[in-house]
Amino acid sequence: MSYNIMAINAGSSSLKFQLLSLPQGEVRCQGIIERIGKADASFTLKVIAEKWQETLPVNDHHHAVTLLLDKLIALRIINSLQDIDGVGHRVAHGGEFFKDSVNITDDTLAKIEQLAELAPLHNPVNVLGIKVFRQLLPTIPAVAVFDTAFHQTLEASAFLYPLPFRYYQELGVRRYGFHGTSHKFVSQTLAEKTGIPLSALRVVSCHLGNGCSICAIQGGKSVNTSMGFTPQSGVMMGTRSGDIDPSILPWVAQRENKTPQQLNLLINNESGLLGVSGVSNDYRDVEQAADAGHQQAALALTLFAERIRATIGSYVLQMGGIDALIFTGGIGENAVRARATICKNLGFLGLTVDDQKNAENATFIHSDSSVVKVAVINTNEEMMIAQDVMRIGLSASHPQNVCLSEA
Ligand code: ADP
Repeated sequence: MSYNIMAINAGSSSLKFQLLSLPQGEVRCQGIIERIGKADASFTLKVIAEKWQETLPVNDHHHAVTLLLDKLIALRIINSLQDIDGVGHRVAHGGEFFKDSVNITDDTLAKIEQLAELAPLHNPVNVLGIKVFRQLLPTIPAVAVFDTAFHQTLEASAFLYPLPFRYYQELGVRRYGFHGTSHKFVSQTLAEKTGIPLSALRVVSCHLGNGCSICAIQGGKSVNTSMGFTPQSGVMMGTRSGDIDPSILPWVAQRENKTPQQLNLLINNESGLLGVSGVSNDYRDVEQAADAGHQQAALALTLFAERIRATIGSYVLQMGGIDALIFTGGIGENAVRARATICKNLGFLGLTVDDQKNAENATFIHSDSSVVKVAVINTNEEMMIAQDVMRIGLSASHPQNVCLSEA
């Protein structure tokens, strides 16, 4: 028995999708509709190595999903809409309310809409995607998978900010953390690959892409993470500063007469690798510039690694040790130099990297004598979303058919 599950990531002008067969985990097709709302929107769909691309007008998200479903049938990826067994939606913010993925009902949808206050750029468009699928596929189980849910296991000592307590109580100002689906997926994959149960592991997971976050995972539970109230905090990223002295912002606002929106742009879009190097937000470009002798680019790479090392260090202290370090995301999976710099001089922790394995992007890059395992694991948030649709959406609708151990 296999199930066709659609994993959806709806953005303000884009819709990313993947159709997976579970429990086999086979990707049947994937793609993106971009520039929704424009006459020259683009629709890209890949089936294994075959790529199909069209420029066409796409009016809105409803139109985008209709085009997608029609195309799946036209290309005979599915025979009819009945062949879709479930849909999983990535949702940015679940607040303190959602501690796991949930079946989408009128009530849960209303709650996700309310949480838009905490994620005004993301939750409303996620809700839009959910509503369109509910209209077009009203009888198919739908599950919301939250970027924040995995971190709901944080203790108050890890999630509270030392502000007046009412900011937490009345306004919900606290660390929520993001990238939870990715941290959960790579830590579970690590357990599968090592054969060591997560319950016995202290893991630090480094998701390093355009956005970067570090997560301390003890016994399979997130116990700390670097992103906070927003995905802006923590380590340095492509264009985001990560943590800075908070008083810099009011100081700059006064000095340069900036509005809150301009300050937001400064720390979200103009900082990080881009801001320090002055070259690019893309790690590869910064690396190339550094190799060509660009001093600021070299400094940006060092700063990037040092901030991550400091965070890893604090998590090792919190967990009383570390058994495995995971690298994932575009930089984590590919940037040999980033991994080498982050792991340098960690022999005192029992962590040493084999340069050859690192250069080959091997799954395990620690040296034979290293006590701590160092893994490079490709993240797959869509797979995690589809697995949650199996675990939560399909177990409710056909409990007798779903084999959870395989999911
Ligand atoms: P997003 O967070 O948008 O999903 P990705 O996870 O794709 O982004 O990561 C993008 C980052 O990965 C960019 O900074 C890019 O330079 C970096 N990256 C991708 N491939 C490589 C590579 N081969 N070497 C170094 N960095 C890489």
